[in-house]
Amino acid sequence: MYLEELSSSRSRKAVLSEGDTSGGVFVKITLSAIKADIGGVGGHTKPSDELVDTVRKIVSESKLPTDSYVGYTGDDIHILMSHDKGIGSSEIHKLAFDAFMEGTEVAKSQGLYGAGQDLLKTSFSGNVKGMGPGVAEMQFEERPNEAFVLLTADKTEPGAFNFPFYRVFCEPSANTGLLLNPTLSKGVTFRIMDVMDGTIAELRTPEDIFMIAAVLMYPGRYVVESVWTKDNEPVLAATTDRLHNIAGTYVGKDDPAALVRLQKNFPATEEFCSVFKVAHYVAGNTRGSHHVPLMPVKRNSPASTNFCIPLVSCSLFSMHNGMFTGPFDAFETPDWDYYRKRATKKADFMREQGFVHPATLIPEELEYNKGYQAIMDQVRQRFR
Ligand SMILES: [Mg+2]
Repeated sequence: MYLEELSSSRSRKAVLSEGDTSGGVFVKITLSAIKADIGGVGGHTKPSDELVDTVRKIVSESKLPTDSYVGYTGDDIHILMSHDKGIGSSEIHKLAFDAFMEGTEVAKSQGLYGAGQDLLKTSFSGNVKGMGPGVAEMQFEERPNEAFVLLTADKTEPGAFNFPFYRVFCEPSANTGLLLNPTLSKGVTFRIMDVMDGTIAELRTPEDIFMIAAVLMYPGRYVVESVWTKDNEPVLAATTDRLHNIAGTYVGKDDPAALVRLQKNFPATEEFCSVFKVAHYVAGNTRGSHHVPLMPVKRNSPASTNFCIPLVSCSLFSMHNGMFTGPFDAFETPDWDYYRKRATKKADFMREQGFVHPATLIPEELEYNKGYQAIMDQVRQRFR
């Protein structure tokens, strides 16, 4: 099953180092993770097999990426590509957009729910950013043992990773590597976006740690865009799109994805993955209307029909000359079943509170706030 999946999800093509034409200067590799919700079976659950196969076929048959991987988390399908085209490459973005467009046709032909819902435009215009899909990209010189993770979430909000990212890079009690690794001890630079106006603040650890905490406190507004070492090596890149700002009205749940480099001068794989066992409360859930925990799940998990608890999956890769080995599913071992149970309990505790805030979001953050406004407009007339 695993081997079968590997061969069908992967295209193994030209090796990047062969393209080293710059007299010994190594060609930088770019990782692009591009994701979209383009339809689910029986609701906002998971893409159909045919939809996933279509997207995978288009990406794997293209000669553009060096290597690629396609998977899904809940109803969000993600495309991971390694290539030498750089960040924001129109060719790479167009490939992902075309694959999502073809997938949308399959979704429509099957009557899938929300077919093409994250594609806000139907013709490509140079860059997939602002067109609906979420994009996380980073470019770097590949290390001899390049390890990285693709994080993908569903049924939640763009800032769902704020707290775990804070703990990995700012809290020695969560990550002893901050004390034991000389590069991490020097601190990192956070680039944090205000998603309402798109401005970015560069804040450094340890000197700006309280400012970092102050903004990450509100994940609906401030979102970690990227993290860099003090030597300007990229460590982390995340999607930072709020679909309701792009479209002028809310059309999706802004589910985030992120790429994070691990090991050596970066967080250890275990230090990074462990911060997700807390299953902290995030905004999301059914109708994007509640605060519930972010549950760590296995790769290619459908959304839970238990009010669709927010999900995060964690795919670990090794890369050499742009070729992937993996993914290894970081949340597949038995101990993670315990944390899933814990997350389910936390979700039950909050949902036992029914409709009353803070179980529910404040009106401005409700995905369907127009529906709430409509009933409140009627109620207002009763106040005299
Ligand atoms: Mg989704």
